[in-house]
Amino acid sequence: MRILLTNDDGIYAPGLLALAQALRPLGEVFVVAPERPRSASGHSITLHKPLRIEEMRLPDGQRAWATSGTPADCVTLGLDVVMEGRADLLFSGINAGSNLGWDLTYSGTVAAAIEGAILGLPSVAVSVVENGSDRDFEPAARFSRRLAEAIRDNGMERWTLLNVNVPALPQERIRGVTVTHQGRRQYVDRIDRRVDPWGRAYYWLRGSLKEETPDEGSDVHAILEDRISVTPVHLDMTAYSLIAPMREWKLEG
Ligand code: MN
Repeated sequence: MRILLTNDDGIYAPGLLALAQALRPLGEVFVVAPERPRSASGHSITLHKPLRIEEMRLPDGQRAWATSGTPADCVTLGLDVVMEGRADLLFSGINAGSNLGWDLTYSGTVAAAIEGAILGLPSVAVSVVENGSDRDFEPAARFSRRLAEAIRDNGMERWTLLNVNVPALPQERIRGVTVTHQGRRQYVDRIDRRVDPWGRAYYWLRGSLKEETPDEGSDVHAILEDRISVTPVHLDMTAYSLIAPMREWKLEG
């Protein structure tokens, strides 16, 4: 298997190295990642300036490519330039921090997998939940390898990707794997207003999670239960329930 690996935490992120090492036994792994952290960059791409690719080495001595682009740029450059169009699978991660519910649209990690799905590759985004201290990427790396094998054996539907979240727990405390649906996540207190030394206001975007009982079967719920969450995601974001009622709106006047 030829596997394209990227992330949004940047080429030096420990989660990227852990995932590269976990996937190498399955085939050839091409690591193409942003030269600097690009978290919360969403699905942005670079159109108005040139992109560079620099060959370098990961801390374990293996070859990798750092790009000046976003995670989505890395997928395009990785597939077309580095891999000359021949890839079987894409992984993005392991991200330091969860990507649950509506956070999917902010995430550079997930956007890379979305880009992979658009380009026709079976694609997976992997994240480990924040725990405030040192992260252990090993359980997520191990599960990623298992999932890669499952995709190789079962295939994946076109225009879909998988969004994986792993609890920040040692292997023995993870209670299993749930195939979930995308949950809800909303933030409150989103703006932190401060004043600079010249008396002018400036703002930090932050926000704390709105307390809500997570719906059963959702990614948010699985993580609360100390289980690995795997959400199949479709590129089609259409709200089908609105198509019929909206046809009655007589929009043509
Ligand atoms: Mn990140």
